[in-house]
Amino acid sequence: MTDEDFRAEVRAFIAEKLPPEMGRRGLMGYHPHPPDVVYWTGVLNERGWSVPHWPVEHGGPGWTLTQRHIFDEECFAAGCPEVSPQGLHLVGPILITRGSEAQKAEFLPKIRSGEHFWTQGFSEPNAGSDLGNLQTRAVRDGGEFVVNGQKIWTSQAQYSDWLFLLVRTGTTGKPQEGISFLLVDMKTPGIIVRPIVSIDGGHILNEVFLTDVRVPVENIVGEENKGWTYAKELLGLERTLSAEVPRIRAMLKRLRHIAETVEARGRPLIEDPHFARRVALLDIEFLAHEAALWRVMAEEEAGISGGPVASILKVGGTELLQRVGALTVEALGDEGLPAYLESDYLVGTPADPPGSPLAPGVTADFFYRRAVTIYGGSNEIQRNIIAGELLRG
Ligand SMILES: Cc1cc2nc3c(=O)[nH]c(=O)nc-3n(C[C@H](O)[C@H](O)[C@H](O)COP(=O)(O)OP(=O)(O)OC[C@H]3O[C@@H](n4cnc5c(N)ncnc54)[C@H](O)[C@@H]3O)c2cc1C
Repeated sequence: MTDEDFRAEVRAFIAEKLPPEMGRRGLMGYHPHPPDVVYWTGVLNERGWSVPHWPVEHGGPGWTLTQRHIFDEECFAAGCPEVSPQGLHLVGPILITRGSEAQKAEFLPKIRSGEHFWTQGFSEPNAGSDLGNLQTRAVRDGGEFVVNGQKIWTSQAQYSDWLFLLVRTGTTGKPQEGISFLLVDMKTPGIIVRPIVSIDGGHILNEVFLTDVRVPVENIVGEENKGWTYAKELLGLERTLSAEVPRIRAMLKRLRHIAETVEARGRPLIEDPHFARRVALLDIEFLAHEAALWRVMAEEEAGISGGPVASILKVGGTELLQRVGALTVEALGDEGLPAYLESDYLVGTPADPPGSPLAPGVTADFFYRRAVTIYGGSNEIQRNIIAGELLRG
């Protein structure tokens, strides 16, 4: 099958299966509603498409890297709810490579089907970029670990079923040497989740407090005190994902639509040569960024990998994404005022927010995406990695 035939197949499938209202909500750019995610993951699972990058023996469809990218592009373009990334992209692949057979049998099918939401408990108030400094302790007591400590910025913890957690199990040697990777049922007594409402008005982030939380020893992933190795593997997964190409493409399309629709001095904004030039510059930068991604994917498919490629793509993609968001807010003018934050959307009727139909989600998404240069390893840290690898020796 050619890539274009594959694209047509994906597009037809989405057109048939994605309820228009769900697609419209997705295109607005608000955080996905859990019921939408559950529904869409189930639909994809029935077709065998919910875990595109997992090995075939664990339910992956056996697509090439290019096909996975095309699939992502079509999903973003149509506004499909994003399959929960913590299960799909983070803990799932680590369970595949490092989990016990019992863990794989228990958890992988439920990630594939959307039955389980997962949340990532790595960061702490004093351990973000410097993750090796984490202080949450797990002490062995018979057949259980007893966990005490605090996590922060724990995305989607409020509706997650399971938490994958980095804990300190050893205090000798380098800080990174005494860390373990645990799987924790969120219903376990002693877990308190407190919301952090972010600048977009949405509630995705949380603090998670753990007091005498008892976790069966069989819920450790791999070996005790080797969690740092597994966490690094997890953070290095999906090198091309952080390029954000499908998301930026969808955002540029929205920017152009808004600039063609709103008027400035009696004519469409896109006819203002200065504004058109700024849109064109972003388009050109996007094309260059996309070309870099395709080059990296071609290299990966040929088995060539190396260099700080993931860091370069992350810095380029996330900073471009923020600039596209900023110009979109500017194009909306007064219509983009923060009346359209997530909280307003949630208390209103999701399908029919007030005001210009162009505006909902734009400002909220712009605010939320300030975070893309922070999470997944801040861009300053990525620049350190790039400098360290490219300028060394
Ligand atoms: C929206 C969002 C969602 C998140 N979701 C999760 C989640 O689900 N689970 C989870 O565990 N964590 C999550 N995080 C946390 C995220 O991983 C951390 O915010 C990130 O690692 C940065 O850590 P920090 O916030 O402690 O900042 P710090 O590490 O304190 O950094 C503060 C500033 O100093 C800079 N800095 C730090 N060290 C250096 C250095 N060596 N050189 C140069 N500059 C440096 C940083 O770049 C940053 O600008 C999320 C964060 C956000 C914003």
